[in-house]
Amino acid sequence: MSDPAGPVGVRDRSVRPVLPPATLGMLGGGQLGRYFVIAAHELGYRVWVLDPDPDSPAGRIADRHLVAPYDDPAAIDELATGCRAVSTEFENVPADTLRALVARTVVHPSADAVAVAQDRIAEKAFLVDHGLPVGPHTSVAAVEDLDDLADDLFPAILKRARFGYDGKGQAKVADAAEARSAFDGFDRAPCVLERRLPLDRELSVVLARSRWGDVACFATAENRHRDGILDLSMAPAPITPEQDAEARDVAVRIAEALDYVGVLAVELFVSDGRILVNELAPRPHNSGHLTLDATVTSQYEQQVRALCGLPLGSPRPVAAAVMVNLLGDLWPAGGEPPWGAVLGVPDLKLHLYGKVEARPGRKMGHLTVLGDDPGAVAAVAERARRDIGVIDA
Ligand code: ADP
Ligand code: MG
Repeated sequence: MSDPAGPVGVRDRSVRPVLPPATLGMLGGGQLGRYFVIAAHELGYRVWVLDPDPDSPAGRIADRHLVAPYDDPAAIDELATGCRAVSTEFENVPADTLRALVARTVVHPSADAVAVAQDRIAEKAFLVDHGLPVGPHTSVAAVEDLDDLADDLFPAILKRARFGYDGKGQAKVADAAEARSAFDGFDRAPCVLERRLPLDRELSVVLARSRWGDVACFATAENRHRDGILDLSMAPAPITPEQDAEARDVAVRIAEALDYVGVLAVELFVSDGRILVNELAPRPHNSGHLTLDATVTSQYEQQVRALCGLPLGSPRPVAAAVMVNLLGDLWPAGGEPPWGAVLGVPDLKLHLYGKVEARPGRKMGHLTVLGDDPGAVAAVAERARRDIGVIDA
């Protein structure tokens, strides 16, 4: 993999860290970017955010909000001139934007690493090439690729290779005929066809890797989804020490193979007892929200530290935690959910992102419950969920 830092090289310890009060840049203004801004502010940095949405959650609290498309040459020029280091909070940032910035300022993660994570075909090929465990799948670039498929690929999920999130751009298909019509439904955009696996559970390992190759993994989280959207995360995950060690090992191998610098999230399946990689996110992850309240250093502070060449912080958990996503579905027309029902719960932290419009499926906030006993924490979180109107599926 080419070295994004050019002739200087990311491993050169003589490259000076970017210290506060330098100005940092963030591509993307969603909630992940918002927490990056908060973490950077805590450390005394200034942050400029690029996001075309004038109401973006991160843009609203940034020192400067560049309201422009991600490929806008003038905005990219401003970031390159005004920011000592730039990172991203979403994988769909154009790789060319990162490449244009790399030539003029510090950028982590690299455009090459983001390019792998933003395209499911490249991602799967990368994982297979490095001997990392993945489920049965095939890439679909043309309709003929759906001919003569092995029966063991079905039932399957057809996933668009690019621009999917929260289960969008995915279709469950029972056989090749259904796969063909789903492929047509995606306008024959490149896809990956994956066998629909029986899932014992889903896990994520969020880690940070520094310019010098130091790695710090947060506690492995278990994630539960509803309708393809993360519903709840708990850390530590209720898995065996062997499973935990394997999950971390897989995640660290991925980070090393990508020569990754920054925060990386690895989504994993446990299927019939085997750990398989689902997908990568080259950024902090929704399941890592709980690190805001439950670990010494949050994933966002780690992102700032890794970006700026500071030593990584401690990922040590200070409590067991359960995080519940709060989606726009909870919002009554013209009103707010009954926050009073949860604001008084001891050891519960409510986070709202300040999004202007609550739409179904939109991530509006989350709550995290902390405690010593994971079972008791989960029970409090379940009750809090019901009390503000999360209806069980
Ligand atoms: P997204 O980018 O939307 O997060 P994912 O590929 O992670 O896309 O899929 C979202 C969710 O759909 C997963 O977390 C999992 O619950 C389910 N899912 C995805 N792929 C499979 C699969 N091959 N077998 C079973 N469930 C899957
Ligand atoms: Mg996912």
